[in-house]
Amino acid sequence: MTNADARPDYVFVDVTNHEVTDIAQVLEDKDIVITTDGGRLNISSYIEGNIEVDAMGRMGYAGATFGNHEFDNGTASLARLIDRAKFPFISTNYDFTGSEVNGKTLPFKMYDVKGVKVGVFGLTVNTRGMVEAENCKNTQYKDPVAAAQWASDTLRSLGAQVVVALSHLGWKSNPFYLGDDTLAAKTSGIDLIIGGHSHSDCIDTVANKEGMPVLITQAASQGRILGRVDIMLKKE
Ligand SMILES: [Zn+2]
Repeated sequence: MTNADARPDYVFVDVTNHEVTDIAQVLEDKDIVITTDGGRLNISSYIEGNIEVDAMGRMGYAGATFGNHEFDNGTASLARLIDRAKFPFISTNYDFTGSEVNGKTLPFKMYDVKGVKVGVFGLTVNTRGMVEAENCKNTQYKDPVAAAQWASDTLRSLGAQVVVALSHLGWKSNPFYLGDDTLAAKTSGIDLIIGGHSHSDCIDTVANKEGMPVLITQAASQGRILGRVDIMLKKE
């Protein structure tokens, strides 16, 4: 298993290639690896996620965003988990003012992957009705479309050549929740959405508001499959 500290260039977690089963091999193979586990690594269990975040750190995860289950034990527990993790938690559409999590997350992060600037931001579904109110008190959900557009624009202005959304909104929109498909259609500047929440094993392409294609993919859930996205870049 690779030590996280030795692999600062590697980013992320989700799934598209069912032939790939070994995350260590994926990390060895490529210059840029974007892999996703689709989330839900049972952080809500009674061990409160310690084993999961330690394993994620050792596997070389360079960043993650929150799913709804990360709030199941309350924000004090989540804050402790963030402190323990060897990688940052990126959260773009939540205001944590007044909670223990405040100040412990990044609104976005720029990764330098062998000279390529990869900008990443993170979106989480509205936890109201999914998580006990007491456990997500002092957390405020904000419109993911506005948050995503702000992050995408900011990252591009900082020189991002690739912009990636880590999303725990779910793949398809429904009358109650905005999903990755609508997020892609209503924004610009996002190249790739790596999803979670709906536990979908999917590869989808949606035109953004400028008509440019946005790849949406998700690696089911609970680490059952491993996703891999290879990004080809043209020199200008
Ligand atoms: Zn979820």
